[in-house]
Amino acid sequence: MRNVNYIDIPSLLEARKRIKSSNVIRYNNKEHQVSEVTLNKLKGKKYYIKTHGCQANIRDEETLSGLLSSLNMERSEDINEVSIIVINTCAVRENANNKVYAEIGNIKHLKEKLNKDKSKDKNQDLILILCGCMVETKDTLDKLINVYPYIDIILGTHNIDDLITLIDSYLENKGKNRLVDVSSKEGDVIEDLPTKRNNDFSAYVNIAFGCDKFCSYCIVPYTRGKERSRRVEDILLECKLLKEEGYKEVILLGQNVDSYGKDLKDYTYKGNKVSFATLLEEVAKLNIPRVRFLTSYPSEFKDEVIDVIAKYDNVMNYIHLPVQSGSNSVLKRMNRRYTKEEYLALVDRIKAKIPNIALSTDIIIGFPNESNEEFLDTLDLVRKVSYSSAYTFIYSPREGTLAAKMEDLTPYQEKVKRFKELTRVLEEGIEKDNLLHLNKIEEVLVTGVSKTNEEYLSGQLENNKTVNFKGDKSLIGKLVKVKINEDKLYSFNGELVEK
Ligand code: SF4
Repeated sequence: MRNVNYIDIPSLLEARKRIKSSNVIRYNNKEHQVSEVTLNKLKGKKYYIKTHGCQANIRDEETLSGLLSSLNMERSEDINEVSIIVINTCAVRENANNKVYAEIGNIKHLKEKLNKDKSKDKNQDLILILCGCMVETKDTLDKLINVYPYIDIILGTHNIDDLITLIDSYLENKGKNRLVDVSSKEGDVIEDLPTKRNNDFSAYVNIAFGCDKFCSYCIVPYTRGKERSRRVEDILLECKLLKEEGYKEVILLGQNVDSYGKDLKDYTYKGNKVSFATLLEEVAKLNIPRVRFLTSYPSEFKDEVIDVIAKYDNVMNYIHLPVQSGSNSVLKRMNRRYTKEEYLALVDRIKAKIPNIALSTDIIIGFPNESNEEFLDTLDLVRKVSYSSAYTFIYSPREGTLAAKMEDLTPYQEKVKRFKELTRVLEEGIEKDNLLHLNKIEEVLVTGVSKTNEEYLSGQLENNKTVNFKGDKSLIGKLVKVKINEDKLYSFNGELVEK
């Protein structure tokens, strides 16, 4: 387990003592004081947030945004006009790390330019803050501290609630000291942090943080810590408020939703122990038009969850069920705790109760020493399940994980060949699944303007696929009916038939 506990100069406690003003921000049932200096300096100024990675990071972005807005700051997408830049990092793939290093490099130039302008009395300071999973791995954190002195504040995934205290302390010291707060506070679940949502129709709701599974290729248990579930009351309250605000969709989030509640030892809700199935049912009963959840873990996925999906129309007939590999020996090396046969049996039980279920998955190709036979087992599983969509990756090692130390004699070219073959087989299943939707009229949640054509809107079908259709921007955030008339493999084109 990770055991990082860095609190750099000045320590948080010292920082808290120095805050003398009576300016108060309230969250987590506590009052948080912010100094006059900070409030005056940042009031009306702008901030920029760049988020990498998964839904957990996107949800964290909304908290970061909420905290900065409570300082009366405004969000901007123009990096050149802001006073605070936050880079919310991801450690899951090497590629994401490299993007962050490139971004930090660009901000260095921006800071240098602003410093020159400052000498012309423009009075402009720029605070660069780094947070997210990357800073939770010791080697990366050491590199960030030693190689990038112009990062002003570094805070860990367990320390988001300290953001304002850190900014306050940094400004009180006139930016003389860089602050690093990557202290592990696993066990805490902080409720009621200010939140500024990224949209007003679909919201992520955390149900649990961290992960105890330790899949051998995954860095998440080291960066996000052990599993901590929120209480049912707190989750339901957040969902009820979202419903009152008119949200059309909630997406319940956990690294492994199926182990929800296992850590809540003596806790009961309405006199009963809780499970993901009981939570999902309580959320379904709130009658929010759409309820989804992410991510499922095959061996912990209970039949009771299938029953809840089948029973409630507002729980979408869509399950993201990562398999990672169809080979039992690879699954063992991955420390995934199920076999190909168990996975397929679960899929059969799901399809028996919910015939129109859409299943998506994650697959890693080229896990260390994957043999051709092992790869063929994956192809066989993919053919049998026939997924509606999939996220596929060629394995890349993450420093600090068990798999990174495994010998790997499979040539990269062979992995690329297998990846192409996997894509071909997956697409056969996707084409088959798409035929079920062609020429049908389906409900769509309109999520925005199409990325490729301004005159078109994009929306999400129940099966989580995108459909593009002509329509007015005023429909964004609404549920509409669309006739699906063209299959584009990974999306559809359609025609609006009912607003
Ligand atoms: S279940 Fe496995 S892959 Fe998913 S977050 Fe946990 S360790 Fe990572």
